[in-house]
Amino acid sequence: MRLKKLELFGFKSFFDKTVVSFRPGINGIVGPNGCGKSNLSDAILWVMGEQSPKNLRGERMEDVIFSGTETRKSLSVAEVSLTIGDIAKELPPPYTPYGELTLCRRLYRSGESDYLINKMPCRLKDIRDLLIDTGAGYKAHTIIEQGRVDEMITASPMQRREIVEEAAGIAKYRLRKAEALRKLESTERNLVRVRDIISEVKRQRGGLDRQARKAEQYKQLKENLQTLECRLAHQEWTEWTQANVSLLEKEAKLNDLGARLVSELASLEVKQTKAKLALTQKNEDLNAARQQVSEVESGIARLEGRIQTLHAQRTEWLASRAQFDQEITNIKDERQSLEGEAEVLKQSAEEIEETLPENEDLLSENEAAVTALEEEIR
Ligand code: ATP
Repeated sequence: MRLKKLELFGFKSFFDKTVVSFRPGINGIVGPNGCGKSNLSDAILWVMGEQSPKNLRGERMEDVIFSGTETRKSLSVAEVSLTIGDIAKELPPPYTPYGELTLCRRLYRSGESDYLINKMPCRLKDIRDLLIDTGAGYKAHTIIEQGRVDEMITASPMQRREIVEEAAGIAKYRLRKAEALRKLESTERNLVRVRDIISEVKRQRGGLDRQARKAEQYKQLKENLQTLECRLAHQEWTEWTQANVSLLEKEAKLNDLGARLVSELASLEVKQTKAKLALTQKNEDLNAARQQVSEVESGIARLEGRIQTLHAQRTEWLASRAQFDQEITNIKDERQSLEGEAEVLKQSAEEIEETLPENEDLLSENEAAVTALEEEIR
């Protein structure tokens, strides 16, 4: 088993994602003061489940999240993944098929945190148990801070033995033994309590017997009461059932009646609708008839006016006619006199016509005489 890779993001001074690969054997990390060497060992402690901020050189657990610098903003999450390789044979189920383990721990500034084993979410306890089972132990590593090497060398043989035993894989048995002893102590304490309870129970038993008899009586009476209540309930149930049957019959009749009334109401509504339509039609007819009457009345008024006009014209015509008759009579009289005159003229004309050839001859003679006289005069 050996550490293969450490990946950091947002952990302490590691703002950018940083991957540190470890080669087999001893690895050294070298750098100037304050470049983050100790932060790497803090990251290993943290990802293996360290819960004390103090052991991570901080006040609160939140201090492990990158808190920002002059040029970079703080982050809200810190994440560290540690890959442990060459571990296949040491892994317990269900991790046996894996060739290596990747532990991951994430902490958000809100206080929430995630633990993952080979990318599968898990509990902190699962990581600790797994490390103990593999013999690594979540405290089986030792971080010797600057200036504490002397302290380590001068540690007591017991302390040194503890470190060696944990690293050798005995830690898990020690822990299990301590747990078993704790359980044993707690079982013994429980046993003492049970014994106390038994003696107390024995003391109370007489009183409890009396109470049990009373309880028995109470139980008997309660059963009787229940039987009576059952009978009463049954009786009530029968009565209610009968009442319910008659109520159901009434309900059915009322439903029938209701249905009939509803259908009658529907047909009445249909009739009402038809009657309304007919009434509307009648009203329209009446309006049309009224319109016609008013048109006829206005026609009559027009005709009466016309008749009056015609009466007036007739009177005028009658007067004109009498005048015309008089004029006709006058004309006739005049005609007769004109006809008489015409007759006279006709006769004169005839006479003139009869004398016309003679007069023409005379005229010719006179014209010749005139012409001769004119000739003579010239
Ligand atoms: P040295 O050789 O002096 O012991 P180092 O290389 O071990 O130094 P670290 O102690 O690992 O250095 O790192 C200290 C640096 O980490 C300090 O600059 C400190 O500001 C920084 N640092 C610690 N915690 C945070 C944090 N949460 N956010 C940002 N920087 C941090």
